[in-house]
Amino acid sequence: MSSARPLFVLNRACEMREVSDACRKAGKKLGFVPTMGALHRGHVSLLEESVRRAEVTVASIFVNPTQFGPGEDFDRYERDYEGDIKKLKGCGVDYLFYPDISDIYPDGFGTTVSVGNLGDCLCGPFRPGHFNGVATVVLKLFNIVRPDFAVFGRKDYQQLKIIQKMVRDFNMDIEIVEMPIVREPDGLAMSSRNAYLSADQRTKAAEVNKALSEVAKKFRSGCDDCKILLAEADMVLRMAQINDIDYTEIRDPETLELRQRAVKGDLVALAVRLGNTRLIDNRVL
Ligand code: AMP
Repeated sequence: MSSARPLFVLNRACEMREVSDACRKAGKKLGFVPTMGALHRGHVSLLEESVRRAEVTVASIFVNPTQFGPGEDFDRYERDYEGDIKKLKGCGVDYLFYPDISDIYPDGFGTTVSVGNLGDCLCGPFRPGHFNGVATVVLKLFNIVRPDFAVFGRKDYQQLKIIQKMVRDFNMDIEIVEMPIVREPDGLAMSSRNAYLSADQRTKAAEVNKALSEVAKKFRSGCDDCKILLAEADMVLRMAQINDIDYTEIRDPETLELRQRAVKGDLVALAVRLGNTRLIDNRVL
């Protein structure tokens, strides 16, 4: 980690465009890491990867209202501007794009992205409109920042696949770089939402990754029947009294089609609720 580089904060889309234009003119490679802030080591791994690959790295922090449904946690979403600035400087990020909402959704804004069938499964039915909101804001951010590449985490696997598809479908000249899930020592996937968990919920939350590990173990032992594999996950979750399960599923890692028989490389994904906190996690078999 290096803190020698200065960090510039840009609040306006037009300022961001000027920086991006200057980079292109100077022939500098520009990497981009979009986030909603409350940065943790998962975000840091993405930022460090961008700093490694690019001459200039832009991070954005924007808690995007259009990807939150009614009754979801938009208002209470963790915000830690000072902490975020320290982490961005620590990683050697060059620019933070921190737009005002009126710059992203000005009066009269009306055009949105519809993500199609990749958004219909897994988290889609539980969060209507979520992925359209994500794709719309990411498209806008891509058009403002105009990076050579953007870095996304596999923590939000469905989101990653939807963004990759959007880039292909819209012929966008942006490479999407995938990064592995960063976990706490007990296996819990790092997330800004982990801050909501009570001590008791935090202990239970470690079982979420254990449920995925049990599926992987059973698969390695030779079982490929998805019903049997997923029963392993359900058992771990129920033993931990995690009863509010949105889904546990095995899917094709690219098309996200549901599997009956698992093959190596398939995605095991789950979403559970602990109190008001929704946790998602996944692993590839
Ligand atoms: P968010 O701030 O939650 O919108 O996430 C911004 C980016 O960080 C997304 O590409 C996420 O997939 C990624 N991310 C979040 N948590 C993790 C994690 N634990 N490991 C790796 N990437 C992550």
